[in-house]
Amino acid sequence: MQIIIAEESGFCYGVKRALELVDEYLKKGLKFDTLGPLIHNPFVVEELKSKGVNPIDKLEETDKKYVMIRTHGVPPEVYRRAQELGITLLDATCPFVSRAQEAARKLSEEGYIVVVVGKRDHPEVLGILGNVRGKAYVVCEPEEIRSLNLKGKRVGFVCQTTFRHDVFARCVTEALKVVAEIKIINTRCHTTERRQNSVLKIADETDLTIIIGGRNSSNTKRLYELASMKGRAYHIESPDELKEEWFENAEKVGIAAGASTPDWLVEKTVEKIKSFERRS
Ligand code: SF4
Repeated sequence: MQIIIAEESGFCYGVKRALELVDEYLKKGLKFDTLGPLIHNPFVVEELKSKGVNPIDKLEETDKKYVMIRTHGVPPEVYRRAQELGITLLDATCPFVSRAQEAARKLSEEGYIVVVVGKRDHPEVLGILGNVRGKAYVVCEPEEIRSLNLKGKRVGFVCQTTFRHDVFARCVTEALKVVAEIKIINTRCHTTERRQNSVLKIADETDLTIIIGGRNSSNTKRLYELASMKGRAYHIESPDELKEEWFENAEKVGIAAGASTPDWLVEKTVEKIKSFERRS
């Protein structure tokens, strides 16, 4: 059996950077928590806890002087609240997310109604919205554009960094039917695009695809959806979930990992699949 690992797989730039920052601050002897789980992977979150870095839901919950902001970013009021509480924020917001926040702020300052295409309750989207100075909407499908009062208005579009490109494009097309002026800032993260194309490629080339990543990770779920469109695919969080029967008669197996999945999980998955082969 041949095992092919997707070219673009595992930790993305933003996640790598966040974990490097964790190491850097720990080496300096700083004690800190993270506002929310640093990344969407339970194994990594547990490892961080063992180093004393715990996820908290609210700044008020920490007993430490420092709190790390994760890659998704936060709205400006979190920075203000941290100041009131005497907490120093260690900012691991991904630069691509900061760019989306700035784009939304700029559009609103230029007088555009801002439409964010993304998931309404996603922390990144809440952070982007928090930067808007005027009116803003969040939509996750083109149909929702019709229910907004955008006729004759000046509308600015941004997108959640990891959201679907095709949906973003269809939302913009829908708005074009009624608005007076439109300004689009493409805030999608190119890592996401490359990762998704890479999954489509291996799903095409193999008999089945294993997608590894946290169940709470949107980008992993999307990789699974794409692989499923091409053929047989399974989403696992840990190699323990692999079932031997999935690999019966499979000649080529594709593996792809979400942006928050550490390399050692990919390696363990490969080992486990190979152990099935040895047994048969
Ligand atoms: S997926 Fe893109 S935007 Fe999100 S953390 Fe990774 S590099 Fe940054």
